[in-house]
Amino acid sequence: MAIIIERGTGLRDQADEQFGLECPYCGVYSHMTLQSVPEFENLHAVRPKHIGVVYQCDACSAPVFLRFAVKEITDNTVELYRNFIELERPKERFAFSYLPKHVEIMFREALSCYSNNNFNAFASMCRRAAASSFTALGENGKLRAFDEVMVAQGIAEIDDDSFDPIKQVIFDAGEEEDIPLLNRAQAGVLLEVLKDMFYQCFVRRGKLTRAIKVRQFFVREGNGGLKTSA
Ligand SMILES: [Zn+2]
Repeated sequence: MAIIIERGTGLRDQADEQFGLECPYCGVYSHMTLQSVPEFENLHAVRPKHIGVVYQCDACSAPVFLRFAVKEITDNTVELYRNFIELERPKERFAFSYLPKHVEIMFREALSCYSNNNFNAFASMCRRAAASSFTALGENGKLRAFDEVMVAQGIAEIDDDSFDPIKQVIFDAGEEEDIPLLNRAQAGVLLEVLKDMFYQCFVRRGKLTRAIKVRQFFVREGNGGLKTSA
C-alpha cells in the first residue's frame, strides 16, 4: 500500500495496517500512533525531496521522528516511498559498569557507531575495545577470550567462512587498514559476539563475585548477634 498525503484529508488513514517500531526512548517494540504530518498545501508549493513525519510511541508517549523520501507530487496527492529513516535509533545497551574503564570508553563509542549505522567505524572501535580488554585480562587473556568466542560460534552455529571477518576484527593484530569491510548483517553478528565475549570475561565474574559478597555479608551479620525468628 502506498503512503499518500492527500489535499484536504492529510495522511491517508492506515488504520488497517498496524505500524510498530522499537522506540528509541523506552526500548519497547510498540505500536506507533500518527502525531504530526506536514500540510499538503505547503508540500505542494515547496515540493521538497524529503519530509518528516512524527509518530507517538504508545508505550511511553515519546515522539518518534521519521524521514521519508517523496516519490511523486500531483495536484491532489503527495506520494511517499515506503522506506523511511529513523532519526533517532534505539541505543544499544550493555552492563558497562562491569567493564574496565578503558574498555568501557571504547565499547560505548563502538555501540554509538552501531546505533548510527556506521558499521565500519563500529568495527574499528570493536578492534580497539577488544585489544583493550585483552590487556585488562592480563596474561593469556587473549587466548581465554578466543576460547569464549569459539564457544559462541558453536552455540550460534555460524559457519567458518561467515565467521572469519568477525574473528579478524576482534583478534587480528595487524594495521587498522586491514580490518575487513562489514555490512549490516556482519556488524550485527560482531555486536552480539563481542557483547557475549565481554559478558563471559567481565560481567559474569563481576556479578558472581558481587552476589557472593552480598551473601557472605548477610551470613556475617546474622552471626553477629541479630535475633532471627528462623
Ligand atoms: Zn517508547
